Amino acid sequence: MRKLLIAANWKMYKTPAESTAFLTSFFPLVKNNTAAEIVLCPAMPCLPAVVDAARGKSVSVGAQNMHWHNEGAYTGETSPTMITAIGATHVLIGHSERRQYFNETDTTVNLKLKAALAHSLVPIVCVGEHLNEREQNLTADVLNLQISVALEGIKPEALGPLVIAYEPVWAIGTGRTATPEIAEDAHKIIRAKIAAIAGSDVADSTRILYGGSVKPDNAGSLCCLDDIDGALVGGASLDPDSFAKIITNATTR
Ligand code: PEP
Repeated sequence: MRKLLIAANWKMYKTPAESTAFLTSFFPLVKNNTAAEIVLCPAMPCLPAVVDAARGKSVSVGAQNMHWHNEGAYTGETSPTMITAIGATHVLIGHSERRQYFNETDTTVNLKLKAALAHSLVPIVCVGEHLNEREQNLTADVLNLQISVALEGIKPEALGPLVIAYEPVWAIGTGRTATPEIAEDAHKIIRAKIAAIAGSDVADSTRILYGGSVKPDNAGSLCCLDDIDGALVGGASLDPDSFAKIITNATTR
């Protein structure tokens, strides 16, 4: 019922030329893929080149961040209107690196989510606990709070496109992948919270991705679980072979 979604977060890597070189190698490797939706999230200056190169291919393109206003005196920011005008269709919201280094909060995540939905961008909202929170048994509290503030004031019928990425902060870029059991438990908590807020229909159709040191050799065991509907991949998405292998392994289940 929920189609797998595998998204690449290229963070602050790759120039436009490097992005298109990636695509030249990557497209032939995934040309037979129909099982997963693929989304590439390059850095902002690479969006136009990646959108152009992806035209006519079954690969979507997303931004890694955006402001919630349409325009204004917000130096250095990019608006949802600009992102849709470029041709991107998805946007990451509230990635833990944005929360850690750029003061993003659950409240700004909520504003950005509302803006994304209003502009028909598919929002990929990132949530996840820090290691000390997990060690203190606070994972469920953290996830429940992040989800409830993110969804505050949004009507259930507007949440159709919502995608959540569960990204435990201790697993991002560390090589310390959550076990399938840990990830599945967290995904169940998130789905239950969405059901409590927006109803079981919304919860059942919302895709919840796992992110945090996903590699070709663990993608299969994570993505085969009932509540894991794909992956958000950072480091291992920078290389076309590795990202294509993740897609192949995730979809062979
Ligand atoms: C990410 O950036 O969202 C991420 C999950 O990174 P990595 O795969 O490198 O842990």
